[in-house]
Formats: sequence, C-alpha cells, structure tokens
Amino acid sequence: MIKIYTISGYEEVGKNMTAVGYSNGGREEVVIMDMGIMLDRVLIHEDTNIQKFSDKELQRLGAIPDDKILWKGGKNRKVVAITLTHGHLDHIGAIGKLGPHYPDVPIYGTPYTIKLAKSEVKSEEYFEVKNPMYETEYGEIVQVSENLAIEFVRSTHSIPQASMVVVHTPEGAVVHTGDFKFDNNSPLGEKPDYKRLKELGKEGVKVLIAESTRVAEPTKTPSERVAQMLLEDFFLYEGRDEVGLIATTFASHIARLQELIWLANEMGRQAVLVGRSLAKYAGIAKQLGLIKMKGARAVRSPNAVRKVLKEVSQARENYLLIVTGHQGEPGAVLTRMADGELYDIGGRDTVVFSAGTIPNPINLAQRYKLETKLRMKGVRMIKDMHVSGHASREDHRYLLRMLNPENIVPAHGDFRMLTHYAELAEEEGYLIGRDVFVSRNGYTVDIR
Ligand SMILES: [Zn+2]
Repeated sequence: MIKIYTISGYEEVGKNMTAVGYSNGGREEVVIMDMGIMLDRVLIHEDTNIQKFSDKELQRLGAIPDDKILWKGGKNRKVVAITLTHGHLDHIGAIGKLGPHYPDVPIYGTPYTIKLAKSEVKSEEYFEVKNPMYETEYGEIVQVSENLAIEFVRSTHSIPQASMVVVHTPEGAVVHTGDFKFDNNSPLGEKPDYKRLKELGKEGVKVLIAESTRVAEPTKTPSERVAQMLLEDFFLYEGRDEVGLIATTFASHIARLQELIWLANEMGRQAVLVGRSLAKYAGIAKQLGLIKMKGARAVRSPNAVRKVLKEVSQARENYLLIVTGHQGEPGAVLTRMADGELYDIGGRDTVVFSAGTIPNPINLAQRYKLETKLRMKGVRMIKDMHVSGHASREDHRYLLRMLNPENIVPAHGDFRMLTHYAELAEEEGYLIGRDVFVSRNGYTVDIR
C-alpha cells in the first residue's frame, strides 16, 4: 500500500514537507520530499537568530514542519531517503533542524540544490547535522531501499536545477512536481524533460503530488524570456537619462541576475551585487558554471558593503547596483538605504523592482513601508518587472494530460489553492474524494 504523508505546506505557501510510504505487509519504507521553513512566522519577532533556535521552538512558532506523524509507530517504519526538489528556503530551510530527526538518512538533490543545502547546514548553530548528502544527476535512478528507487526529472522554476521527484514503487510511480512552470525559452538553456514525463505517463503514475500556488490563474505562465524583455525594454533605449540605477530581485533567481549583469555591461556600467544572500547564491552558481560574473562584482561583508556603496554614490552613472530587499525585509540593503543608511538615496536614483510582492500581510506591510520611505525621498520606482516561477492552470493541465495519474494530491498552498487544483482535476475527469484528495497538515492519504 502507498501512503502520502501531507506533513506541511498544505495550509500555507511555505514550510513544505511531504513523505511517501510503501509497505507490502512488512516494515513500511518512507521517502521524505523537502524540509522547508516559513520565514515570516519568525520575522514577526524581531532580533531572531533562527540558527540558534531548537526544532521544538521553531515548530511551536509554526516556522518549520511538525513531522511527528512520521514518529508515531516509528518502529514499524523506516525513513530511507530525504529528497529535495529545489533550493528555495521553503523547501530546504529546515534541514538543519529536522535532518537530525533522521540521523544518517541520506539527502539527495541536484548539484545546485545540494550545495545550497550544505551551506544551510553549515550555518546551523543548534544541531550538528550528520546526514550524508549526494548530488544526483537528472535521469539517474537511485535504489534507496528494497522496494523504492528515486529519480529526479528536469523541470523549470525561478532557481536553477529544479526537479520533479519520482519515487518508484512496486505499485507504480509517485511523482512530486516540486515548484515548476513549463518554460520553453529559459535563458539558462534548461528545458522541462517532456520526453521523460511522457514516458512516466505511459509506464503508469499511481499518484501525482502537485503544487497549487497559481493554479487559479487561467493562463500559461510566461517564460523567463518575457521578464528579460521587460527589463531590456526599460534599460536599453537611446533616451535613457537615469543617473543612479538600483535593481532588486530574488537572490536565488540566477537567470534574472544574469540578465541584470548583461544589461549593466550593455549600458557600459558595472554591476555590483550587494548583500550576503546575493553573494552566496551567485557564488555557488558561479562554481557550477551557471552564471557568468564577467564585468560584475559581489560584496558581502558589512565593511565591504559600506565601502563600495560610498564609492558608487560618488559616481552613480557608472554602476548598476543589484541589492537585496525587494520585499522590504528588515536588515536588507534596500531597506537600510531607504532608512538613510549606507547610501544617500534620493531624487537622482531609480529603483527597479524585478520581483512581485509575496502576498502575505507581513510582506505587504514591509513593502508598503519601503515604498513610502523611498517615495518621501523622491526616488523613482519601476515595479513589477517580473514573471512568476509557478505554473498557471494551463501548465498544470498539460502536465496532467502527460502523466495521466491515477490519483492526485494537491500540495503547496492554502486550502483555497488546493481546492482550485481539485476543480481543475475535475475538469479533467477526476472526482474529489474518489481520486483527488485535498488534505491538511499532519494527515495521511491512503492510496488503495
Ligand atoms: Zn520554489
């Protein structure tokens, strides 16, 4: 029998964790998919250093998954592998706290994902995390127990090397989409592996666990190429007369960072990446050859940041600053600039937001505060130079038709998003309660 443990990420966007169990009468073998964190639950409390928190404290705050369902009846169950769909913190940010619950169980992911996971674990201060970590190539099938094997299938998202994770069981495949959209013109040269997805559909998919974040949007999500066009249309034209240019985007969005660096070079400016997380994600991407930093530089230490911003402020027309803080996060570079720290931002400066606002009340409030402060200083703002990394309804419909799964468990969203997915599935001939199962955090779905 196959069991889907809908541990977390089924009542919110954030702190994702799912597990797949298989047993044929004997001891149940379990594969975990993702261990994410939900940062806004912690940001409510100021001056928090998450690295120093225990698993219990963070679970009490609702910031990381409560995985006790995997502990109940633990003797009859064996966790054999932890898989990571991609490197975003809402998928890997809780490894430092929850990895030790499954000591010695190996963690698998694509190279970029595993390198980010290792950097998470390195900054962990409460636990020592000893799980071995393995970089897995697309297409490789790894036998992780007597009955179960795992496979990573190439997909596209707003971070490099995102995957759909397949757990092969004697009763058929269980496919977890991870976060994805179908980007057929990805500037990183990555394309979804449609061939393999179609093969899996033919071989037989027992269960599809599908992200639901944007399934209510009745469209197909535009390619990252469209975001590039938005940026090129703004930055590259003869009439341009900006002095100070400041762009802000997701630090892990390597394709977007590459585009901004390219634009800086085209404009004859130097791209300067400012902030710890930008330096981290770009640095690891550079090691793997996923980004070319030619003409650009990255600064991370507080002293270097202060020094470089002073230098830039004296000759703004020579630079494109790329900074953290697009959601108005406290402590991020743009937030501090708006507070009058680090750089005298004002009427000569233009800020380009290459990111949407993440729609939860804390982000909305922080972003509102940031924009108000910038406006008061006379800063010009260009917003929404962005496309989403999440599948819309028609990407999802295409996937459903390719995989033709027997059962569906919508994931990665609040109740409303999960039911929107169920509605799409019903359009495709499924029936809620029969072969589509809307679950909650901490419950299981038994597949018979
Ligand atoms: Zn993601």
